[in-house]
Amino acid sequence: MPIGLYIHVPFCRTRCHFCAFYLRIYRDDLAQAYVQALLKEIRLHAFRLTTRDTPLSTLYLGGGTPTLLPPDALIQILDVVRSELGVAPDAEITIEGTPDSVTEEGLRALKAAGFNRLSLGLETAVRDELVEIGRRRASDAIAESVGHARRAGFTNLNLDLIYGLPGQTERSWQTSLDQALALNPAHVSTYALSVEAGSRFHVDTHRGDLPELNEALALRLEDIAVSCLTGSGFERYEISNYARPGYSCRHNRLYWEAGEYLGLGPSAQSYVRGQRFGVMADLDRYVELLGRGALPICDEQWLNPAQRGKDALVFGLRLLAGVDIRHRATRDAVEAAEPVLARLKAEGWLEQEGTRLRLTDLGRQYADSVAVELL
Ligand code: SF4
Repeated sequence: MPIGLYIHVPFCRTRCHFCAFYLRIYRDDLAQAYVQALLKEIRLHAFRLTTRDTPLSTLYLGGGTPTLLPPDALIQILDVVRSELGVAPDAEITIEGTPDSVTEEGLRALKAAGFNRLSLGLETAVRDELVEIGRRRASDAIAESVGHARRAGFTNLNLDLIYGLPGQTERSWQTSLDQALALNPAHVSTYALSVEAGSRFHVDTHRGDLPELNEALALRLEDIAVSCLTGSGFERYEISNYARPGYSCRHNRLYWEAGEYLGLGPSAQSYVRGQRFGVMADLDRYVELLGRGALPICDEQWLNPAQRGKDALVFGLRLLAGVDIRHRATRDAVEAAEPVLARLKAEGWLEQEGTRLRLTDLGRQYADSVAVELL
């Protein structure tokens, strides 16, 4: 079984108005303390999990904004992961960043050290929408950062976009898609805006300063993304993800294909050997506990085979290819959920072709409701 490693780097310069991830505003002293604690966490897990027998097939530094850390620190993290946990020679090694946090020199150093996939949070290419979400830099930074990435040698480049933003229209969304495509990425992720507790948009919505999400418009924007991206040679392989042939994200596929992953850094989640657990979403406590040689683990939960099967089914249905109902990861869950699945098929949300069960176009619009029915 492949195993991946996710490292949460909990720093940003400011918090975007839609964002509810765990993070702190970047400060050099906090970042230094975090890196030292993370290196200890990696070493403690190497001792605890002995994943050495199965080198990591993927490594994903997400956040937050990992590229805010100095390149030397990022390379040190990669080196320690390699020596302590083992990384397969052909591993996919991704780093996330924002357009205003990367330099050509920094990216060159990361590429030379082994990072081979870059994911930039573009979100929107429209200036007014960037201001609306709280991004300080203008849209010029986007093309500039992609230029840095190209010259540094990154060919496996992802751009993240968001639709359903306040004030966004079909025309402005098309502009963002066109500008993203003009940068020739290998992968594009399009996420529907979700107003999460802890975000500024959540507060604004409750105060009545921001209108409720317009679901009908969001569905039209999703349709525009599907036709624009698939018409430009991308395959939609997951509800929110599109890739040129051979460039689907191997790390994220682990989540959808019942793979194992270890998550390190505050708020990261793991699923290893049938056990789910998290890391405390509290940087100060994280640093303090690791300083004493203790792992800051929380919410440990052993999943029984039935729970594991349900998870594999629900996550697998997010893939356009769906799930193989004979696969050992899902077959018992499919059998147990037969009455619900029959109803969802009758309602036109699910379809089966041979042994593959998948969401229909209609079902993909209500994937969260399908998940609730099946869990
Ligand atoms: S969306 Fe990304 S850049 Fe913005 S605050 Fe959240 S993690 Fe940071």
